[in-house]
Amino acid sequence: MPSNMLARQALRASRHVRCLSSSAVRPAAEVKRLGVVGAGQMGLGIALVAATKAGVPVTLVDSSQKSLDKGLAFADKLLAKDVAKQRITQEQADAARALLKPHTTLDELSSADFVIEAVPEIPELKFDIFAKLAEICPKHAILATNTSSISITRIAAATTGGNPTDTSNSSRVVSTHFMNPVPVQKGVEIIAGLQTSKETLDTAVEFCKRMGKIASVSADSPGFLANRILMPYINEAIICLETNVGDRDSIDAIMKNGTNVPMGPLQLADFIGLDTCLSIMKVLYTETSDSKYRPSVLLKNMVDAGWLGKKSGKGFYDY
Ligand code: NAD
Repeated sequence: MPSNMLARQALRASRHVRCLSSSAVRPAAEVKRLGVVGAGQMGLGIALVAATKAGVPVTLVDSSQKSLDKGLAFADKLLAKDVAKQRITQEQADAARALLKPHTTLDELSSADFVIEAVPEIPELKFDIFAKLAEICPKHAILATNTSSISITRIAAATTGGNPTDTSNSSRVVSTHFMNPVPVQKGVEIIAGLQTSKETLDTAVEFCKRMGKIASVSADSPGFLANRILMPYINEAIICLETNVGDRDSIDAIMKNGTNVPMGPLQLADFIGLDTCLSIMKVLYTETSDSKYRPSVLLKNMVDAGWLGKKSGKGFYDY
C-alpha cells in the first residue's frame, strides 16, 4: 500500500479511536491485578517490572511449568542483582517477588483487571488466546498484546465470537509493545486496533507510566514503528554476512563503534531471538508485498537448525 494511503488510514483509525467508547474499562490507577500470559523473556520482564515499579500483584500464566520455573529463577537472579547494586533493598525485592503468582491455566485470570499476552509470535496462537481471554477475564479488563508485528485489528477481531459488530470485547484490545530487556528499556509502543476504544488506549498509556515507562503511540501498520525500522536493519546485516560483505565481528563492530549503539545487529538479533526476527520479517514481507522486506535465507536456515540465539545457546554467537 502506498505510504500516503497508509497515513490516511492511520489518521482515520486515530479519529475512530476518539469516537469508540467502552464505559466498562477502568482507569489505570484502579488496576489492582495484572495478568501476564507467557513467562518467556518478555512476559517475565513485564511481570517483574509491574511488581517492582507499580507494586501490583501479577498472575503469571505459562502453559509450560518448565518455562515458569526458569522464568522465576531468572526473576530471583535479577532481584538479587538489584539488591547487590543497592538499587533496591532486600525487603523491596522480597515484596516484589511475593507479588508474582505462577499458574499453568488461563482460567486463573478471572480476576485480572489488565492482561498482557507475551506468547510466541504465531498469529493463530494469539487469536486463540484472545478468544479465551474475552470469555475468562472480567468485562472491565484491558486485553493487551506484546506482539512485535501482528495486526492489533486482527487480534481484536478474534474476540468477537464471529460477530464483528459487537465491539464489547474488541474495544478493550490494545497493544503494549514492551522492548527487550523490559527492566532496562524505557520505551513502550502503544498501538490501537481499529476497534480499540479511547478509554482502552488511555488506560494502556497510563498503566505503562505506572510501570515507569515512556509510552509512544503508533498506528496499526505492519511492524508498527519500532520493528518497521529495526528489523530491516537486522535483516540487512544478516544478508551482509551471508554475501561475505563482512564477517560477524566486522559487522557488529562497525555498527557498535560507528553508530554508538550498545551492541551490533547480529548480537542484537541473538538477544531478540532469531525465530522472533524471522516472524516479524515474514509479517512485513507478506503484509506489504514489498521485496525490500524479504527475510534473509541465512536467517531462515538458522531458525530451521534451531539456532535461535541466546535462548537456545547458539545463534551468531555461542552462549
Ligand atoms: P519466548 O519464546 O521467550 O516466550 C514465550 C513463552 O510463551 C514461553 O515461555 C512459552 O512456554 C509460552 N507459551 C507458549 N504457548 C503458550 C500458551 N498457549 N499459553 C501460555 N503460555 C504459552 O518469547 P518472547 O521473546 O518473550 O516473545 C513473546 C512476545 O513478545 C512475542 O509476540 C514477541 O514477538 C514479542 N516481543 C519480543 C521481543 C524480543 O526481543 N524477544 C521484543 C518485543 C516483543
